[in-house]
Amino acid sequence: MFNLSEKNEMRIWRQYLHQIPELAYQETQTSQFIADKLTDFGLKVHQGLAKTGVVATLSAGNSSKSIALRADMDGLPIQEQNSFAHKSRHANTMHACGHDGHSTMLLATARYLTGHRNFNGTVYFIFQPAEEGRAGAKSMIDEGLFEMFPTSCVFGMHNFPDIPAGHFAVKSGAMMASFDCFEITLTGQATHAAMPHLGNDVIVVAAQVINALQTIVSRTLDPAHPAVVSITQIHAGNTWNALPESVVLRGTFRCFDPAVKTTIAEKIEQLVKAVCASFGAAATITFNPENPGYPVTWNTEAETAQALRAAIAVVGEQCVNQTPIPSMGSEDFAFMLQERPGCYLWIGNGASENSCLLHNPNYDFNDQILPIGAAYWVKLVETVLNDPT
Ligand SMILES: [Zn+2]
Ligand SMILES: [Zn+2]
Repeated sequence: MFNLSEKNEMRIWRQYLHQIPELAYQETQTSQFIADKLTDFGLKVHQGLAKTGVVATLSAGNSSKSIALRADMDGLPIQEQNSFAHKSRHANTMHACGHDGHSTMLLATARYLTGHRNFNGTVYFIFQPAEEGRAGAKSMIDEGLFEMFPTSCVFGMHNFPDIPAGHFAVKSGAMMASFDCFEITLTGQATHAAMPHLGNDVIVVAAQVINALQTIVSRTLDPAHPAVVSITQIHAGNTWNALPESVVLRGTFRCFDPAVKTTIAEKIEQLVKAVCASFGAAATITFNPENPGYPVTWNTEAETAQALRAAIAVVGEQCVNQTPIPSMGSEDFAFMLQERPGCYLWIGNGASENSCLLHNPNYDFNDQILPIGAAYWVKLVETVLNDPT
């Protein structure tokens, strides 16, 4: 589908984007690069949705059918440890999740479809900011994404290092978990470390709370419904010989079922309050204090079947895993899937030189898969928009 010079150009774009990673809602250089390219291809380009979001529109024929393809643009606050020529030029910021590759594949798709127009309908190319924990997809939706660009379905793709290069993995239903954060503040009477009986030692209370929270998955939930509850931060005290007045615990929980999510949140409240009461301490609990939680990434049946047809057309049935185990990671594309039917699939990045996972300071998107991912997008558009049903 792509000739050598087109493949080389994709690699150049990708390696350029890798050098200029930008954090959530600050993707100004990246989004301008993308918008300029889309304008050069001859597309209608809209900038500024959710600050740095870019949406391009391409129509062919007379059908009212439409499809949206989404790529994310943001990097992570990680200092890159690679030493190759295209390593990040921005301190403490890097494309450790391969969003440079996602943007490049979608750009290459836009150019191909503009040149060939082998479809009947409208394609929306969505380049979103702030996937990493800041819910850029939700911001775009809140600012009118699907009113301005009224697509009937939406598709996403993420590279995955555990899958062989160029293979795909996709299934209907849950692909990725929901993600929620919580902050618990335990408050008691501070006291001298030598006289614990004169206060409420909230550090000991915190230890009981942490243990109690670990029983949610093991004792409260149906074992057939996977979930994770993790305490990831403990903040308390500043000296050797005094018991502090408060402890702050922060953590996250993830699962594949909204009902399980509700149960976990309720059980956190119940356990924290009960444990604290038994020690005479007080507790406040805040869910998602900084950013919205992410819903479950849920693929609809019909759109998953279309994604499968497109993936198989590109790499053959033997290279498409149709029964992947869903990931406990999460994805803000889930917000788009709450608004429109669609499908999110994984493209194998293959084992890298250092065999590292996403968000690792040695990660790098595999340029060999750029034309494969772009070919999938093209096939998908042709599959969905040329489908007579
Ligand atoms: Zn990531
Ligand atoms: Zn990512």
